[in-house]
Amino acid sequence: MEYTEAELITIGDEILYGQTLDTNTQWMSVELDKIGIRIVRKTTVGDTEEAILQAFAEAESRAQLVLITGGLGPTPDDLTKPCLARYFHTELVLFQEALDQLTTFFESRGRKLNALNRTQAFLPQGCVMIPNTLGTAPGMWMQREGRVFISMPGVPHEMRKMMEDTILPKITATFQTPVFVHQMVRTVGIPESVLAVKIANWEKSLPDFTKLAYLPSLGQVRLRLTAKGTDKKGLEESVATEISKLKAHIGKYIYGYGEIRLEEAVGNLLKAQGKTIALAESCTGGLISHMITSVSGSSGYFRGSVIPYHNNLKKSLLGVTQEILETQGAVSEATVRQMAEEVRTLLGADIGIATSGIAGPTGATSEKPVGTIWIAVADDKTTQARLLQLTQARDVNIKLTAVAALNLLRQTLSEID
Ligand code: AMP
Ligand code: MG
Repeated sequence: MEYTEAELITIGDEILYGQTLDTNTQWMSVELDKIGIRIVRKTTVGDTEEAILQAFAEAESRAQLVLITGGLGPTPDDLTKPCLARYFHTELVLFQEALDQLTTFFESRGRKLNALNRTQAFLPQGCVMIPNTLGTAPGMWMQREGRVFISMPGVPHEMRKMMEDTILPKITATFQTPVFVHQMVRTVGIPESVLAVKIANWEKSLPDFTKLAYLPSLGQVRLRLTAKGTDKKGLEESVATEISKLKAHIGKYIYGYGEIRLEEAVGNLLKAQGKTIALAESCTGGLISHMITSVSGSSGYFRGSVIPYHNNLKKSLLGVTQEILETQGAVSEATVRQMAEEVRTLLGADIGIATSGIAGPTGATSEKPVGTIWIAVADDKTTQARLLQLTQARDVNIKLTAVAALNLLRQTLSEID
């Protein structure tokens, strides 16, 4: 199905000269995109008849739908209505309904209509009036030969209310607009480029009406599938089928669908298995605990954590020996293994998780550059440790470590490697 193409015109010297920022078209673009209308151009013109008429003609030559804001005030500088009347070869006539609404609007504020206000009830003959419940200038819907012009006031909240209440539903009813079905697949522990290679054939085999977007963030990549068509149920089924095929390629990296966060997905696994956790967070300084406890219900599985930042605490609280510290260092496999195993028993949890690393930018040694980080997850049977070689940026390293540790915990719980 083809998109309906739309152009937006904003009218007003104040926009052109930069005294007012054009927020209207930004908002309108987002809303129109949601209902499947494609914006192909935006134009700003000043308050002159010549510029306005030219903008109308150009927009109509390219788009089926032209949305206009501004130039509807009662003062002589506002020219949109006379321009529309001229462009559509008609004239401005009194709309009784508009006059009634104006009268009510003024009466409710204890004011009387003057002659200038009365001009706002004059609209191009043949237009459909769009009520303005928040102000005095009605909107207009004008149609000829499959082309639609919609004119709205420039005042942002009046324009928005009109769009929401009347115009967006009327556009949907008038134009064939496609249905969109989105699904988000959330992956962790696989870089975007590696993921792209793994799913290249699957991506190529997607139906024409389905598009894939990669949305990477630190340590995670979201894949958004968007199917476009007319039959919502059919599209939903098609997306579900494609996702089950995708699972065969990258299932072990998928932790959830839709809006779920990694820490929630891990929390759900812990709840389902009735297991508890405790953490010894050195280089992450409590970030993982913060993420875990940001999830409601985490008291059901989170015992607590220690932050043994100083080596003395790694020794006294967690039993890391002087020998390990001297021969292998605080950032080492032996250290994080000991920390994970000890915090597990110290805090009485089923699983212990530990981090220790050089977050940077200082603290590097010749063998251990900035970004050298060890993580470990210990349960009653085994301890898994991983070496991460991350970046030069401290905050990035800390966040990536938290994601990697949560993922190692997820893998332990799901028994995947
Ligand atoms: P008008 O309909 O031209 O009388 O516009 C009324 C007021 O709405 C102007 O004085 C501006 O403050 C505001 N306005 C007009 N156009 C825009 C726009 N595109 N974005 C944001 N505000 C606008
Ligand atoms: Mg104006």
